[in-house]
Amino acid sequence: MRVAFLGLGAIGRPIAVHLAKPPFELTVWNRTMEKARTFAGEHSVSLAPSPAAAASNADVIITCLPSSEEVRNLLDGADGLESGLRTGSLLVDCTSGDPRTSMEIAARLAGRGVDFIDAPVSGGVKGAEAGTLTIMCGGEAALIDRARPVLEAFSKRIVRCGSTGAGDAVKAMNQALLAIHIWSAGECLTALAKYGVDASTALEVINGSSGRSNASENLFPERVVTREFPRTFRIALLDKDVAIAADVASRAGVPAPFIELASRLFAEAHASLGEEADHVEAMRIIEERAGVRVS
Ligand code: NDP
Repeated sequence: MRVAFLGLGAIGRPIAVHLAKPPFELTVWNRTMEKARTFAGEHSVSLAPSPAAAASNADVIITCLPSSEEVRNLLDGADGLESGLRTGSLLVDCTSGDPRTSMEIAARLAGRGVDFIDAPVSGGVKGAEAGTLTIMCGGEAALIDRARPVLEAFSKRIVRCGSTGAGDAVKAMNQALLAIHIWSAGECLTALAKYGVDASTALEVINGSSGRSNASENLFPERVVTREFPRTFRIALLDKDVAIAADVASRAGVPAPFIELASRLFAEAHASLGEEADHVEAMRIIEERAGVRVS
C-alpha cells in the first residue's frame, strides 16, 4: 500500500518509522526539508519536494501537524496537498485537531472525491516508538476500516468515536483531563512540600490510593522528582488541546468551569514558559507561585 506521511515532528517521526517498511511504500514530506532528508537517509522511503508531490502517488495520506489550522493551510496553493490528492484516496489526519475544522476539511475534500477521517493519537512518544498508540477516529466506519491496515502498524487500540470530528472531540477531552491531573497533582505536591512531605513519599501514598492518575503514576516520578523534564510534548500543544476542549463544551452548551480554568492556567503557563517547553514544565509555574520546589 502506498502511504504518504506529512509532519515528521516529535510524534510524527516515530509513527512514520513503522510505515517505512513493507508492506508499505512510504513517501515523506516535512516543512523543514532537512528533517525529511535525514529520515529518508535512515529509512527506505521516498522524499517528496512538496505536499502535492507527496500525495500524488499515495492511497493513504497521513498528516500530523500542530493543529487543524496548519492542516487546512497545507491544502492550499499550487504545491498544496489538495492539488496532489488523487480521487479515491484517503486523508487520515493524526493531528490533535478541532472538530469544526475537520468537518470543514472533510466537506472540502468530498467535493474532489477524496475521503477524510480525523484520527488523533494518544500514548506519547514512547507509545509511538513501541507502536502501541491509541487512535480515536471520527468518520464513516468503512473509511476507518480502509485505514485500519495502516493504523495497525502503530496502534494497539483503534476506536471509532463517531462521525467526522468525534475523534478530535474525544482527544480534546482526554487532554483536558491530562491538564487538570497535572495541575491538580502539582498543587497537591506543592502544598505537601510546605508540610515537609517530600514528593516521592507523597507519590508513594497517592499511587497506592484513590487520587492516582497518569500524572502521579508516571509523569511526576519520571519528570518532576528527577527534575529531568524531558521535552516530548510541547506545552503549546496542550494549551491548544484544552482550548479546543473548552470550545467543544461551550458549543455543546455544557457548563465546564474546570475545563475553562485548566485552559486559562495552561495558556498562562505556555505564555510564561515559551514555545519549546514540555507540558509537565507547568509544574515550574506552580512551584514558582508557591515559592517552593517539591524535590
Ligand atoms: P511538533 O511540534 O514536534 O511537530 C510539528 C510538525 O508539524 C513538524 O513536522 C513541523 O514541521 C510541522 N509543522 C508545523 N507547522 C507547520 C506548518 N505551518 N506547515 C507545515 N508543517 C508544519 O509536534 P508533535 O509531533 O509533538 O505533535 C503533532 C500533533 O500530534 C499535535 O497535534 C499534537 O498535539 C499531537 N500529539 C503529540 C504528542 C506528543 O507526545 N508529542 C502525543 C499525542 C498527540 P517542522 O519540522 O518544519 O517544524
